Amino acid sequence: MQRILEPGQIESFAQRDIPRLRLPDRARVFSARAERLRDQSEGGAIGHAIRDYLHLMAHLADAQQAALESIDSRPPALPDDEHIAHARAFHMPLVSVASWQREAQWRQSLASICGSLTALPNLPHQVLLVTDHLCAMTAEQLEAQADNLLAVQPSEVDTATAPFILASLQVYWVALASRINIDAVHELDVPGVCPTCGTLPVASIVRADSRHQGLRYLHCALCSTEWHMVRVKCSHCQTTEGISYQSIEDGPRSIRAECCDTCHAYRKILYQEDDPAVEPIADDLASLTLDLLLSDGGYRRASPNPLLWQQP
Ligand SMILES: [Zn+2]
Ligand SMILES: [Zn+2]
Repeated sequence: MQRILEPGQIESFAQRDIPRLRLPDRARVFSARAERLRDQSEGGAIGHAIRDYLHLMAHLADAQQAALESIDSRPPALPDDEHIAHARAFHMPLVSVASWQREAQWRQSLASICGSLTALPNLPHQVLLVTDHLCAMTAEQLEAQADNLLAVQPSEVDTATAPFILASLQVYWVALASRINIDAVHELDVPGVCPTCGTLPVASIVRADSRHQGLRYLHCALCSTEWHMVRVKCSHCQTTEGISYQSIEDGPRSIRAECCDTCHAYRKILYQEDDPAVEPIADDLASLTLDLLLSDGGYRRASPNPLLWQQP
């Protein structure tokens, strides 16, 4: 039996200590994603184009893991006490994409990711053109693209380079999020935004391990922080009315879309109980058929997948 934690019922769980946050495990955040992308690319029900894309993104995730490990020898600067107090006082994410001074090392990660990809045999020519283009960009151009992609409403996004730039920014923000003190991350007034970095979630996941059994967490598209949100609630507009769940007929039980009839947005929700290996970024990417179904039904994605940028 699945436990559904309804809003209002939460008090009855008062005796149970609900872990509010889960910070990413830098030993395997990207390698687990790579593994899942590979598994999903071998699924029977997907077309050739998406299969090739999932394969490429699996290589990308491997390269992200390697880039993250290389940062271990020179970890990023962490917020000091003054910064932590300031963020708390102003209800801001601890290392907000909007205000935290990111270090240049994210561009080194980008160079190393591009290097890993270009070393692959049979890399599609179009991808090689994109990595060449990224290598030719100046630091100023890359920083401007990064600012734009991290903005609340990006403009003129180059959809070809965006996944690679965001992948490199993910490495930097995971390096941060995996090292910060969990007690320094406080709750925000806006529950649908990552309390660590201020980015929107890519999807949510209902966990099945003993500590988090039956609890739903939103998964940050950038830093992979997960934060608790009660179930049967729209993660976009926070309403608890008119929530429905849609899935692909005869598709996996481990993924559904949580649809809201108030704001007409949806985000996918993954169930570890049905498949312990679900991974938010990978499973979201591998279930594009569900996006098509929902788009036909008049719903829109609440936020994009960083590895497949589409113009809003
Ligand atoms: Zn985040
Ligand atoms: Zn809504």
